[in-house]
Amino acid sequence: MSGFLEEPDHLKEAMREAFEDVLQSGTYVLGPHVELFEFEWARVCGTSFAVGLGNGLDALEIALRALGVGPGHEVITTPITAFATLLAIVKTGATPVLADIDPHTGLLSIESTKSKITRRTRALVLVHLFGQMRRMREWEELCAREEILLVEDCAQAHLAEVDGRKAGSWGIAGGFSFYPTKNLGALGDAGALVTSTSEIARFAASQRNYGQTSLYNHARIGTNSRLDELQAAILLQRLKTLSQFTHRRQEIATKYLQSLDSQFVSSLLPPEDENAHVYHQFVVRTLHRRKLQRHLQENGIQSLIHYPVPAHKQPVAGELGLTDACVPVAEEFAETCLSLPCHPQLSDADIERIIDVISKFSV
Ligand SMILES: *Cc1c(COP(=O)(O)O)cnc(C)c1O
Repeated sequence: MSGFLEEPDHLKEAMREAFEDVLQSGTYVLGPHVELFEFEWARVCGTSFAVGLGNGLDALEIALRALGVGPGHEVITTPITAFATLLAIVKTGATPVLADIDPHTGLLSIESTKSKITRRTRALVLVHLFGQMRRMREWEELCAREEILLVEDCAQAHLAEVDGRKAGSWGIAGGFSFYPTKNLGALGDAGALVTSTSEIARFAASQRNYGQTSLYNHARIGTNSRLDELQAAILLQRLKTLSQFTHRRQEIATKYLQSLDSQFVSSLLPPEDENAHVYHQFVVRTLHRRKLQRHLQENGIQSLIHYPVPAHKQPVAGELGLTDACVPVAEEFAETCLSLPCHPQLSDADIERIIDVISKFSV
């Protein structure tokens, strides 16, 4: 069993046609495919706008910049995330502040977050880690009460939903990544910002294109972070199977949750409701990670670690002022978490075999 994702033939064929379409059109950047994808993605997320960008890191940075976050501000987030979450904050000139996580979910702890709020706290980047949204009403209330801007890092949470509201529609803005390994992936780098605030959408559309507000009129210091036509055309095709693939991920996770049986391996807390978790990763915890990984490897099963080194332990952490973060739960999590195979192309037999191999693990 390898980590290779076999795509269904009909989807491959549809992507070839999409490629041909773009080739014929002669428009390669910010054209009709991008516009259509933006329209569709906003509809899917339940937001008024989606702005196609170069990647997820830019989506988060541009969201924060659109909100006026910059030097002198503090932005709270989690140490257990893709490092891009931290970089997005740092690149605005704001100071990242790490709160600790909940050991049962791996997600940012509300209680720890409260203890990190200061007069300078301007925003919270809430990462829907592994594809899970949790305690969203409480986050919403906390941010409203403390006058903190809520930005969602949705890079792992395409289609996750709480109370009928999708990831990206809870905060004032949300950042998505369509990196190839994400639940919705392009054939290269791609991302999007979603929001229902027209000023933010307008800012993002200008920011991605050198800060242009009209042709050759530069109103601000922008960047180049445009979604290209080819990636948008591919994303439009893959979007058609996203809901079905997401459902399959949830089925696989349910099977794991029901059947994993080992005194050495524990699952994280199941989601508050089924659609609140889209299982970008299925993560367990074990005190015997190295041995378990070897045991899985010997049986042809690939496992990964998300994430082995928390943000404040990275070599660059000193430069970012992160090294004195007191986040003991995150440190323990980083040493004990393990991601099991959970992609939609796995068969029931594959999952049963993984569960069986884990049940035979001993130390
Ligand atoms: C992938 C990811 C990002 C960054 O997205 P890129 O498209 O790679 O820039 C940010 N945050 C999280 C949680 C991610 O998983």
